[in-house]
Amino acid sequence: MSTPSFDTDVLVVGAGPAGVAAALMATSLNMKVLVVEADSVGGKLQTIGALENVSGNWTTGPQLAEALAADLARLEQAGRCSLVRSRAVGVKGHSDRAEALLADGQVLTAQAVVVGTGVTAMTPADTDWISAAPSLPLPPLWRAKPEQAGPRTYVLGGDRPLGTWLRAHPQSTATLHVLAPATDDYKLAEVSGDDRVRVVPVSHVAVSQARHGTDIIVDVENRGGERSTYVATAVLSNLGNRPAALEGLAVDEGGYCPPEMQHPRIFTAGDLRSGRFQRITTAQGSGAEAALAYYYTTAIQGQLV
Ligand SMILES: Cc1cc2nc3c(=O)[nH]c(=O)nc-3n(C[C@H](O)[C@H](O)[C@H](O)COP(=O)(O)OP(=O)(O)OC[C@H]3O[C@@H](n4cnc5c(N)ncnc54)[C@H](O)[C@@H]3O)c2cc1C
Repeated sequence: MSTPSFDTDVLVVGAGPAGVAAALMATSLNMKVLVVEADSVGGKLQTIGALENVSGNWTTGPQLAEALAADLARLEQAGRCSLVRSRAVGVKGHSDRAEALLADGQVLTAQAVVVGTGVTAMTPADTDWISAAPSLPLPPLWRAKPEQAGPRTYVLGGDRPLGTWLRAHPQSTATLHVLAPATDDYKLAEVSGDDRVRVVPVSHVAVSQARHGTDIIVDVENRGGERSTYVATAVLSNLGNRPAALEGLAVDEGGYCPPEMQHPRIFTAGDLRSGRFQRITTAQGSGAEAALAYYYTTAIQGQLV
């Protein structure tokens, strides 16, 4: 079977460290690349205040993100890469092509797709112990500024960013009421000595907007079945992450998308692959590896057609 030709050789979904590395490697091998990014180039780098473990002189994530955006802009100017601002919802591998489906219904086609969508913050809808209207503002704890955390701040979940946040804001005197299901108990050990934390062991929590004003009502059922109601000035989410898997990707029992489980024309890279090794440099390495894997299996040897 002959290989159909497309305007794009490789579609890259997600322009975090993994996706940008895939684009850099693929274009360096003379492939035409189209990158689909739903938000900002750099992905999670935008949230990293202090960087130590990457090559180069980058001291913050946004600095490195800016450099990655400049790399993509350079490739665009050279006519080797295009950046599309859109959200992909699915991918599909065929014997002669791979596709990415965008949220607006558009279908993009290429020889291969590299997916580097990373992980995304879990919301109450991803849990079985919180009821909350999707419209309720429940910003993530790790993004909260100390001044956003007042005396009546409630935190949904005891995931690890709690300790990171407390260490990052030693000057904050806010009391964080952490509503924690039993599954989070082991994670709270690292903050047990911090008297700014009040752990509330819960089995179920219902969160709703107060009838008047901006307060949020927090109805708690503790692990003994007793109910209490609190009035919060802020409720912050700290529920952990889940892989940002697209429809059509093969997932393991943790929801991650290991490369070896995918269609031969679909390659996964970065944090999306596994809960282990979630680091910038491993994301970059796996992005480059994904482009090389396509190059050696298909572009050079034509093994997939
Ligand atoms: C607070 C914090 C601090 C960290 N500190 C460090 C550190 O100091 N050192 C270190 O090595 N690592 C650190 N990490 C981890 C590091 O940021 C990640 O390992 C790395 O960013 C993963 O890169 P990635 O490309 O796989 O995913 P991401 O960086 O998450 O990028 C994924 C990209 O895909 C886009 N995307 C997602 N879904 C879609 C979709 N459906 N369609 C289109 N685009 C989509 C996103 O908008 C994003 O731009 C930190 C992470 C966090 C959250």
